[in-house]
Amino acid sequence: MLGVTRLLCGTATPGDALRYGRQTSQMPAHLLHYSQDKKPIVVWNFTRRCNLRCMHCYADSRDQDYEGELTTQEGLALIDDLASFGVPTLLFSGGEPLMRPDLWELAAHARGRGIRTVLSTNGVLIDAAAAAKIQERGFSYVGVSIDGIGERHDRIRGKQGAFDEAIRGIRHCRQAGIRVGLRFTIHKLNSDQLGDIFRLMEDEDIPRLCVYHLAYAGRGNRMQRTDLEPAETRRVVDMIFEAAKDFHARGIEKDILTVDNHTDNPYLYLTLLRDDPARAEEVRQMLEWNGGNQSGIAIACIDNLGHVHPDQFSWHYSFGNVRDRKFGDIWTDRSDPVMDILKDRYDRLKGRCGGCRFKPMCNGNLRVRAERYWGDWLAPDPGCYLTDEEIGVAGTPWQNYEPPADAEVLDNLTAPRCTD
Ligand code: SF4
Repeated sequence: MLGVTRLLCGTATPGDALRYGRQTSQMPAHLLHYSQDKKPIVVWNFTRRCNLRCMHCYADSRDQDYEGELTTQEGLALIDDLASFGVPTLLFSGGEPLMRPDLWELAAHARGRGIRTVLSTNGVLIDAAAAAKIQERGFSYVGVSIDGIGERHDRIRGKQGAFDEAIRGIRHCRQAGIRVGLRFTIHKLNSDQLGDIFRLMEDEDIPRLCVYHLAYAGRGNRMQRTDLEPAETRRVVDMIFEAAKDFHARGIEKDILTVDNHTDNPYLYLTLLRDDPARAEEVRQMLEWNGGNQSGIAIACIDNLGHVHPDQFSWHYSFGNVRDRKFGDIWTDRSDPVMDILKDRYDRLKGRCGGCRFKPMCNGNLRVRAERYWGDWLAPDPGCYLTDEEIGVAGTPWQNYEPPADAEVLDNLTAPRCTD
């Protein structure tokens, strides 16, 4: 996660993180990316059931029962376990978390154990009563998914009227005094609406926007052909940077972030080197503290059945189940080969990522995207949009990557999308 506004506009500085000793337990939420001890934020998909049918849903959720989901009692015990391990933030996700009635009990328990709680929702079910409960249970943030304006959102989300209902949900949150923001997953089917999303933020007085790059997981795995080409991604990221600067220049407080393409980190650094070199060095420091992709390190996912994954896009790979072992034991067990790679990938990355001069601030980007694309957790990430010259591998053997002979390379793609 890259805090574009804070880094580009200088509203966060290294001193802010140092003031808290860069310790997870001391730091406010917006500085957690710069912690030294990297305690994991946990995404808990505590139900897989959903009232919508979104095209890119990484959980491949439907409106049906899923057998074997963690019970309320198991959920309460899990929260105790996470609190003991020092997990700072628990993100209730789904499916649609508001479809499970024990959300309120579990969320209150997490707050009682000192864990910050976040709700990730499609917003459709947030009426005034639900907003009041969200507020009472102490959620520190509600992220509502919006994938376009009006009909565009409805088409991507699989339900007519979903946009209006989500906007109503956002208004209820704001009226209840809850901090609410938008989550916008960008691809070819909606990238032309990004400007409208910035306008929506302004019109509805929404303080925060997270722009998610597409991850190839669940139904999103079938959308690879609708992912942006590198040059398109670059244009979109330029637009995001410009919007952040424009809000800031006009004195309008908005927090804009990007998620799941950590190439954005070096790209922001390169942009500052060009436009504001005096600030580039301190931002480089913060980006290296941020450390780029944190799957298997400072981001974890627990699915509805209790399986622990490197992140929410890696449900095809489990490190173990919280019904069998404590979360902390699973998370620190490097006998698992993928956990070992994710915890210590720096000198093992291959191809462009292996030779890249920006590894300290990108960390090889989203490993599961490389794995889904090449069949190799150490392969270069096809989502990278920097050129070989920019990353310093032009004319070196790092330019080339050969997948292992036994890798299960996806057959619907034939060439890497790394070059501009
Ligand atoms: S080459 Fe790999 S490590 Fe370097 S910026 Fe691109 S994705 Fe990140």
